[in-house]
Amino acid sequence: MFLDSPVTVLDIQRMSTEDGPGLRTTLFLKGCNLRCDWCHNPESIDPRPALQWYSDQCIGCDSCRGACSSGALVHEQDRIRVDREKCSLCYSCAGICPSGALRARGKLYAREKLLPELLKDRAYFGQEGGITLSGGEPLLQAATLWLLKELKWEGLQTALDTAGLVPLKTLLAALDYTDLLLYDLKLIDSGRHRQYTGSGNERILSNLVEAGRVVAQKKSRLWIRTPLIPGVTANSENIAGLARFIKANLAGLVERWELCAFNNLCENKYRMLDIEWPYRKTALMAKADLENLVQIAAGLVDDGKIKVLWTGSAALVAGAESGDLR
Ligand code: SF4
Ligand code: SF4
Repeated sequence: MFLDSPVTVLDIQRMSTEDGPGLRTTLFLKGCNLRCDWCHNPESIDPRPALQWYSDQCIGCDSCRGACSSGALVHEQDRIRVDREKCSLCYSCAGICPSGALRARGKLYAREKLLPELLKDRAYFGQEGGITLSGGEPLLQAATLWLLKELKWEGLQTALDTAGLVPLKTLLAALDYTDLLLYDLKLIDSGRHRQYTGSGNERILSNLVEAGRVVAQKKSRLWIRTPLIPGVTANSENIAGLARFIKANLAGLVERWELCAFNNLCENKYRMLDIEWPYRKTALMAKADLENLVQIAAGLVDDGKIKVLWTGSAALVAGAESGDLR
């Protein structure tokens, strides 16, 4: 039944330097089974394509409302709001909008059409670069395993960016065709993990340990990524707990642990989706705090192999106040 299932793609990002080594094409797949409170890609959660309204392109002509037979568009003061309960994703409104202010976010691809899209930039990949499958959670789509196999068949370096909340069998099958596993670890305390992501972390941690065994056998590569969210994950207790877990279960296997600094670049995405983002007023972290967490992590996890670093941007203001990270 799934043999020819299409792929629901959020975006294809070319010349990426953030999702693995070298120059890469990153395929962002739609659909996620976690509900992280801070999610930086809210448009990736729903497995279906979605309608988005771009305020800077809207000329207020109301043509879209006339085209919507579901009554799903509301003109509120200076904005068009999409009532997502009513919207059937027919995209009649996007077709009629004269300025392109209403657009589908996400697209269904037939498998055979997607592969050539991903291969377009292979000339730039060199020895280190390749293709990263990310999301959402890429392992929720039936086509992901097929894609990884095809990419290996083409002789490309593959990376898989997963949060690990999937059946172990699915993860292990994907690892057969994965050169670099990018694994997200957020919170060491399962209760807090459930509070902030909607799920406990037991399966995520046990899957990572099993994945580590495969990485060791295959001599493939493993990177861990932790989003640093002020008030949630960015504190010394959590980072130290994660470091101890890595040291106890994955010693000598992890090449790199990235502590990804909080950013607020997604605020506009939430606005377009009519969702209130609870971190709207949260400031970027100070460089001193980022370095302090790296120091804590590196001191506890050191196994002669792992490189711990922070990535992203720190607060630009000179002397930005350090937060309480205890
Ligand atoms: S996609 Fe279709 S149902 Fe949804 S708002 Fe546009 S016209 Fe209405
Ligand atoms: S048709 Fe497009 S430009 Fe006109 S009001 Fe609707 S979204 Fe705005």
